[in-house]
Amino acid sequence: MNNFIGKVVLITGAGNGIGRATALAFAQQGANVVVADISQADGEETVSIVKQAGGIARFIFCDVTKNEDVKAMVEATLYAYGKLDIAFNNAGIEIEQCKLADGDEAIYDKIMDVNVKGVWRCMKYQIPAMLKQASSSIVNTASIAGLGAAPKMSVYSASKHAVIGLTKSAAVEYGKKGLRVNAVCPGVINTKMYTRAIHIEPQKEQFIKNLHPVGRIGQPEEVAAAVLYLCSDLAGFTTGIALPIDGGSNAI
Ligand code: NAD
Repeated sequence: MNNFIGKVVLITGAGNGIGRATALAFAQQGANVVVADISQADGEETVSIVKQAGGIARFIFCDVTKNEDVKAMVEATLYAYGKLDIAFNNAGIEIEQCKLADGDEAIYDKIMDVNVKGVWRCMKYQIPAMLKQASSSIVNTASIAGLGAAPKMSVYSASKHAVIGLTKSAAVEYGKKGLRVNAVCPGVINTKMYTRAIHIEPQKEQFIKNLHPVGRIGQPEEVAAAVLYLCSDLAGFTTGIALPIDGGSNAI
């Protein structure tokens, strides 16, 4: 399939997991992909995976907590490809493992800086470039933790609720300008983020599977498929939504 031929797609957190799978999926459908990540090694590895699959990609270093990095990432994308059609703001962290009253202010600030302000910074610099296209699309990575409670991850949960707030507001602000803005809300997905969680509490593996009515965790490719749908013409009348990709867990 070549549904994204000639489209320029910028993905943050593309060095691993969901971002990497989405970079590959867009490239396999003909897009020019910008792989942005704070890890140069992981980002370069994604680029090489995409190229081995016959796709087009380049790496741009970006720490989404640094305003100048985010600005430079968008500028470098425009310099390389002349435009920006699609952005997937996906970089995120999960570093919290305690109940709210045991929380630490530095960890709170770090999670909010990456997960919320990072998405805000990205959209702030992407939107003016994207409004130059007749149609464009942003997808932000929230979580099912953005739709409900996440015990021992209250700050993470708050950060993902905030991503949905940014998404909905931007969708309304720019709806008439041809820019659609949506969020994906993955359930537990088989990435390094999940591996880190299971490493800390291995006894939770079965419990986590059972959180999903389908009886398993998700694969990054299943989130990628939803992102491609949201960025495609098939979703032309869809904006401002927070789409669960969660094996039914939000239905419980
Ligand atoms: P991951 O840890 O496997 O990959 C995250 C990537 O983001 C890494 O390559 C990392 O280097 C990069 N990154 C981290 N901080 C960054 C920063 N400041 N600037 C730029 N890049 C940075 O995680 P994943 O599971 O692929 O998660 C991707 C997104 O999906 C995150 O926003 C996460 O919160 C969300 N999510 C994950 C799950 C899950 O179960 N894996 C569930 C719901 C939502």
